[in-house]
Amino acid sequence: MRYCIGIDLGGTNIAGGLADLEGRLLLTDSIPTGLPCTADTIADRIAMLCRAMVQKAGLELKDAAWVGVGAPGSVDTATGTVLYANNLEFHNTPLADLLTQRLGRPVFVDNDANAAAWGEYCAGAGKGSRSMVMVTLGTGVGGGVVLDGHVLTGCNGAAAELGHFVIQQDGLECNCGLRGCFEQYGSVTALIQQARAAMADHPESALWTGELNGKRIFDAAQAGDAVARQVVDTYIGYLCVGVTSIINIFQPEILCIGGGISRQGDVLIQPLRAYNAAHGYSRGTGPQTDIVAARLFGDAGIIGAALLGRTQ
Ligand SMILES: [Zn+2]
Repeated sequence: MRYCIGIDLGGTNIAGGLADLEGRLLLTDSIPTGLPCTADTIADRIAMLCRAMVQKAGLELKDAAWVGVGAPGSVDTATGTVLYANNLEFHNTPLADLLTQRLGRPVFVDNDANAAAWGEYCAGAGKGSRSMVMVTLGTGVGGGVVLDGHVLTGCNGAAAELGHFVIQQDGLECNCGLRGCFEQYGSVTALIQQARAAMADHPESALWTGELNGKRIFDAAQAGDAVARQVVDTYIGYLCVGVTSIINIFQPEILCIGGGISRQGDVLIQPLRAYNAAHGYSRGTGPQTDIVAARLFGDAGIIGAALLGRTQ
């Protein structure tokens, strides 16, 4: 049977999966990335993971239509070269060539956030749409833009950095060098920082019990904790401003919210819809962007990587 292989290359783990050509996963597996190590060693490990999965599925490597890799950093998708990835210490690393040498299959490489957006576009929340923007809320804010079947790469592979437009001039310092980036207000890291700041004045808050993470903050708000409610409302306010600004620029059919926090569902999505309906540039005229939660969750990166061969 014809199938494809998807690899989500991270700084901690290399996650992989086999999928049919529609993006339905057959199986997944992962191994540690094992940094620090050379690009050749990483390519060896990816190849080893691919062979192990193919063997486990009882398939033949020669029947793999292609291998797709989502890698951190900036990628030249035409050549499959990772131009720059800080945590992997990749500089102009010809990752596609390194893997083709080892696996004998065509290899496609894209930025990991773009790959996840491609996965949602082809097989998840954006399936059937012409244009979709994905905003992923996590440690940072990432994203991907797919317009008419094409992933927007920019002239340098660095397009769709949706966490790094400024929503507060002279605001919080961002690790990209700017101040006031959306990521500093809309990431889950930012949500936790906002909660810590609010808790400092409120020793009675339920947030003091247990480990602080995005889900617990939302859960406490739902359970009636006033401090958590205030934190969540403020946080969603930042998301409203950022997401509507993104919609104003792209006017996609679908705006998909990704990351673990998107599992909050309507609690998160409905305020974004209401704000955009009231304040979006195109309000009241013509088709409107539908704001939805991601559907593939943690599998988006692997599925999107597996479907990268469909971009060609
Ligand atoms: Zn920034």
